[in-house]
Amino acid sequence: MNALRKLFTFNGGVKPATNKAESSRDPIVRLDQLPLPPQFVVPLHQSVGGIPQPLVTAGERVLKGQRIGGSDGNFSSAIHAPTSGTVIAVEPRVMAHTSGLTMLSVVIEPDGKDEWVEIQPLDWRSMDANAVRDWLRDAGVVGLGGAVFPSHMKLMAGRKTPMKTLVINGAECEPFITCDDLLMRERADKIIAGIRIMRELLGAPEVLIGIEDNKPEAIATMTAACTANADATIQTIAVPTRYPAGGAKQLIRVLTGIEVPHGQRSTDYGVQCFNVGTAYAIHEAIDLGHPLISRMVTIAGNVGQPRNYEVLFGTPMDFIVRQAGWKDDTNAFIMGGPMMGFRMPAFDVPVIKATNCIIAASPRLFAPPPPEMPCIRCGECARACPTDLQPFEMYWHSRAKNFGKVQEYNLFDCIECGCCSYVCPSHIPLVDYYRFSKTEIWARERQKNAADEARVRFEQRNERAEREKREKAEKLAARTAAARAASAAPAATTADSPTAPEAPAPTPAGDDGKKALIEAAIARAKAKKAEAAGTEGEAPVVEKPVRKVLSEEEKKALIDAALERAKTKKQAAAEKPVTEE
Ligand code: SF4
Ligand code: SF4
Repeated sequence: MNALRKLFTFNGGVKPATNKAESSRDPIVRLDQLPLPPQFVVPLHQSVGGIPQPLVTAGERVLKGQRIGGSDGNFSSAIHAPTSGTVIAVEPRVMAHTSGLTMLSVVIEPDGKDEWVEIQPLDWRSMDANAVRDWLRDAGVVGLGGAVFPSHMKLMAGRKTPMKTLVINGAECEPFITCDDLLMRERADKIIAGIRIMRELLGAPEVLIGIEDNKPEAIATMTAACTANADATIQTIAVPTRYPAGGAKQLIRVLTGIEVPHGQRSTDYGVQCFNVGTAYAIHEAIDLGHPLISRMVTIAGNVGQPRNYEVLFGTPMDFIVRQAGWKDDTNAFIMGGPMMGFRMPAFDVPVIKATNCIIAASPRLFAPPPPEMPCIRCGECARACPTDLQPFEMYWHSRAKNFGKVQEYNLFDCIECGCCSYVCPSHIPLVDYYRFSKTEIWARERQKNAADEARVRFEQRNERAEREKREKAEKLAARTAAARAASAAPAATTADSPTAPEAPAPTPAGDDGKKALIEAAIARAKAKKAEAAGTEGEAPVVEKPVRKVLSEEEKKALIDAALERAKTKKQAAAEKPVTEE
């Protein structure tokens, strides 16, 4: 740990009760210490970006770690089977989201064998950086701090500004949640291994690991792991405990002094930030070849034994909460902490990549909030806001559904930390108003985009129809010209014939073209006919000899005449005198 490093502060923030002691007492319950649930429901969309396409169908057998959802383009992340078994359905199921909406999911019935698909580590040092990023995309690695942004997208080396600092977020400032704390205590070496890969991909010369100073054990183990790696460029730094020190911009501010302005990104200043859980997942995906199929989850609140569990994605929340001692008066699950978390629509929604904590709520633990009172414009919310927004202005415009105005007050810079709601003396659930506004704005943008896409599709269809019509007309014209050329040859041979037709004049394609073809055919037929007629008139008439049929008397007379001619010839020969030679 670098005790001499100068730290900075961020504006606003609050100090709620941490409630972390209970769940951080015992070690993580590993995967091999847990039974498999009777069924896994694995939603295909678990990260920011495109929705992965299902790669399996009902009835198929899958192996643990097999890809069951292929990333939809590069800004997306793959999904894998959490265990071996049979796919019994690919259908919409209720999501782990407060909306209660459904999402296409792969439902798997485990076969109990927990049989891995063939896996292999990646020799990342000898590979092109893009190939390593592709590997991470296909391994389904996303940010595990809650944002679930595809990690391979964030691991691009600085485009405009060279990367200077890689910030690793181990602050874990939200009350009740201790999964990062336990991960750092138990698996520090593996986190450091992941950090080294990330640093290489980013080309960042410096790595700063920020951990809130209420986690002394994690600070100690991470410091020891840095020392063991003999890498002075990786430093573990304790930061003051103050919510929300774990916000990316807030931690960057504390560690580097850089204030990232509204509408800009930390990468514009050469800084990129990842959660410790993400670093661990990157090590698992590359050094072991294990895709992201599980994560650490804190089970806290109204349970007998609050603790951290390594949970396979798709596990029903009630199944894992029962392992920690479900209490009968539990009336809801909150995913995330009490400041930023969401109430789940059902007990059996699945654990997903964004599930860092499940708090079993009860009326005793979370009493119903006091009634909402009118805003008194005290300004407490603005003083508590760590992103220097004006929460009460955003509240007024959200309430009036004046969404354009809310955006003018930088609504989308709000990290929904809940500090404003926490301090509001009028008990106004301010964050709910901002979430409502964001949802409405996104919905309207989606509608607008859908309308724009429909318009573009309509225009493209019209263009295509016009083009096809034009091409058809051109083809027909070409055929007409070819037909005319073909008809020109016989026409020339019959040019002397009085009935030889004249070649048809060039005509445009279409009905006129067809007419021309027909006329040409008729002309050719006429010419042949005329030629045949002329030849027949000049031919000599050959009369066949007609044999006369004689009567018996005529035959006898002819015979008698022949005998008489012969008799006379014989007599004349006898009376002729003999002469000497
Ligand atoms: S803290 Fe509450 S009452 Fe005070 S200005 Fe903000 S919204 Fe209004
Ligand atoms: S929820 Fe938003 S507006 Fe309220 S304090 Fe946090 S960042 Fe500021």
